[in-house]
Amino acid sequence: MSQTLKIAAIAGDGIGREVMPEGLRVLEAAAQRFGISLQIDTIDWANCDYYQQTGAMMPEDWKAQLSGYDAIYFGAVGWPATTPDHISLWGSLLKFRREFDQYINLRPVRLFDGVPCPLAGRKAGDIDFLVVRENTEGEYTNLGGILFEGTDREIVIQESVFSRKGTDRVLRFAYELAQQRKRKLTVATKSNGIAISMPWWDQRADAIGADYPDIAVDKQHIDILTAHFVLQPQRFDVVVASNLFGDILSDLGPACTGTIGLAPSANLNPERDFPSLFEPVHGSAPDIYGQGIANPIAMIWSGALMLQFLGHAEAHDAIVRAIEDSLKQGPHTPDLGGQAKTTDVGQDIAERVRNAT
Ligand code: ATP
Ligand code: MG
Repeated sequence: MSQTLKIAAIAGDGIGREVMPEGLRVLEAAAQRFGISLQIDTIDWANCDYYQQTGAMMPEDWKAQLSGYDAIYFGAVGWPATTPDHISLWGSLLKFRREFDQYINLRPVRLFDGVPCPLAGRKAGDIDFLVVRENTEGEYTNLGGILFEGTDREIVIQESVFSRKGTDRVLRFAYELAQQRKRKLTVATKSNGIAISMPWWDQRADAIGADYPDIAVDKQHIDILTAHFVLQPQRFDVVVASNLFGDILSDLGPACTGTIGLAPSANLNPERDFPSLFEPVHGSAPDIYGQGIANPIAMIWSGALMLQFLGHAEAHDAIVRAIEDSLKQGPHTPDLGGQAKTTDVGQDIAERVRNAT
């Protein structure tokens, strides 16, 4: 008898509300098929309606309310027509990342059969790698300021912060992942231009790498690395990067594999001291909300990552296989050139998971 997994489901705004039911449908199918005991609680805050009603995105005791969960399953947040993005984002998602120390942002990048690829001549199997982004420090700080403001001597300084602990833990996570895959790790750097932090980052990569002598490490400057994502995506397996570089790579990667409607992500606290968070890469997409045509696969795949992280690899694999088969033979939403509804795709994948062998 497996332990019950406690999941907080936060649909959020816009198409988050349309893809969440499909994500839950597939999770429930997987739970049934693989005998996983799930407790899913729906949370109806962390959305812009709640902000309009209360003046805050979340209740004051949000952290206490969520701390007991194994994971947060998150749709999308943001409704710019009523609520500025910096309020909705900083008031919910970014708080989770920081306060729950979700220091790994993991984004699989994979090309599937049946999905038009913007890179000419690529087929399924050519692109299949993981981007590991440092999620809590690095270039994203509010340290710095403006000197001599308004004069012609005006100077702006923006600091970066790399701690040894923060850097080593993301590098180690990436080496561990590489160990389980093809033993190839690409380290994003810019030590030829950023003269202090990046040479140090490279040194830390070497220091941690001493524990992983059988992994082939390739350090690449971020400029050429982005070019290689487009020109030679088949050479990557696990790619690790600082917060800023990882942000760029983890948008570029999914862009190379077709629609943003497929791309999943995980914000991990690997030690499980706090809940980790699983969400599609896409946002709330106000432009298509209400039509029932959002692609639910990014949400569904994010749910698979959640089950994998919580110890159910076989359920993850079955969901990913169902996604593969559905993209090959099943209904497609308009972003993939089809006419199917969000629910058609969710039902098709859930059915495949229920019948998984
Ligand atoms: P954010 O600021 O949160 O990234 P955004 O509005 O900039 O939000 P998205 O919400 O990701 O970006 O939408 C970008 C484009 O991709 C939109 O045109 C949207 O319609 C489309 N899109 C996003 N998600 C999906 C999806 N699941 N299915 C189909 N199209 C999508
Ligand atoms: Mg955006």
